[in-house]
Amino acid sequence: AYRKGGYHAVRIGDQFAGGRYIAQRKLGWGQFSTVWLAYDTRTSNYVALKIQKSALQFAQAALHEIELLQAAADGDPENTKCVIRLIDDFKHAGPNGQHLCMVLEFLGDSLLRLIKYNRYKGMELSKVREICKCILTGLDYLHRELGMIHSDLKPENILLCSTIDPAKDPIRSGLTPILEKPEGNQNGTSTMNLIEKKLKRRAKKAAAKISGRRVSIVGLSETPKKNKRNLDGIDMRCKVVDFGNGCWADNKFAEEIQTRQYRAPEVILQSGYSYSVDMWSFACTAFELATGDMLFAPKEGNGYGEDEDHLALMMELLGKMPRKIAIGGARSKDYFDRHGDLKRIRRLKYWPLDRLLIDKYKLPEAEAREFADFLCPIMDFAPEKRPTAQQCLQHPWLNLRTQNNEDDIEGQMSNMQIKGSCS
Ligand code: ADP
Ligand code: MG
Repeated sequence: AYRKGGYHAVRIGDQFAGGRYIAQRKLGWGQFSTVWLAYDTRTSNYVALKIQKSALQFAQAALHEIELLQAAADGDPENTKCVIRLIDDFKHAGPNGQHLCMVLEFLGDSLLRLIKYNRYKGMELSKVREICKCILTGLDYLHRELGMIHSDLKPENILLCSTIDPAKDPIRSGLTPILEKPEGNQNGTSTMNLIEKKLKRRAKKAAAKISGRRVSIVGLSETPKKNKRNLDGIDMRCKVVDFGNGCWADNKFAEEIQTRQYRAPEVILQSGYSYSVDMWSFACTAFELATGDMLFAPKEGNGYGEDEDHLALMMELLGKMPRKIAIGGARSKDYFDRHGDLKRIRRLKYWPLDRLLIDKYKLPEAEAREFADFLCPIMDFAPEKRPTAQQCLQHPWLNLRTQNNEDDIEGQMSNMQIKGSCS
């Protein structure tokens, strides 16, 4: 992919923007870009440098992303709204063409890495709660104040806030070990990477064991998950990143949005969408943090496709989709008959969220109910009935300190807006 129109090859020490930024090591990559830790010689800070592929369509996508990021930065001068901050942008000419570059505040590991680091065991609900507050603060800002839909919310696109200066504290920033000197150690094989490799092997084995959707439901209810890592001391503040798929609510350009597992039913059925698609993805993300498993992992099977399996999984968890909604989308006829039943998957095995949390994930009943009470309304099949991010921020579950402490919720509620913010 390092060819004309593709990624820009970077070496440690490469300079950007007339020498202002110096590349330190690779942080990550996506479909369209590579992201580097860089040193900002003007401010003496570390930053994340996102270097887009050079072909025209990628450049256009980057311009769009910059527009959204700039709007987000302009509306939040105090930088408290849990959204990644754009610091600068420029063009960089390389052998593969002109690359648009974004300079972003440097953050820590993604929630996906946190989930992997925790061996897919799920985190304590108190941690999940802190993360949920940040995500909701970010979404409320994007939706209500900016009129923006993120459209690709998922653990990978939420990064922990990195509070430690990599130069001063060589030990950790988020979870990834940071190099001791700005230059050096370019492979940076972290313990996290080694753990991830092991986990990948294990996940593959597990996936091989449970093939076929009907079996998977039974097969998964085996042992309670043990061996969680201790996440004490890891700061659970985080920010929403990756606006590459974002759009203005009044100027949408894509029908098919969101990463499969986090996709809302109205997107599959093509019945039109709005802010509430992000809320759906948020609920999927919160569940995944708490359990280590994706809420919906659809697969195509014998005689049915991935979409139909996905709809079946949703109904098994949330109950039958109201007929009006089921048959109301441009693609409804592909999946539903006129009675509102799935065409190819006829027998559903209902397993409501609270039972799932109790039976499969061994959550104490009270905790499971409270968590399910928080999540279920966000997964209403009727998008307009889902609570907004602002309404979710008022939910008592976010303010529970201990599992059964429902005293003084009123007092706690008044602090919530402040506590919900990210810095
Ligand atoms: P893409 O649009 O290509 O998916 P992302 O913005 O999601 O690009 O970035 C790709 C990866 O780079 C992320 O998953 C993350 O690992 C890393 N990354 C992105 N932005 C930052 C940042 N500000 N700080 C630290 N790492 C980042
Ligand atoms: Mg991404």
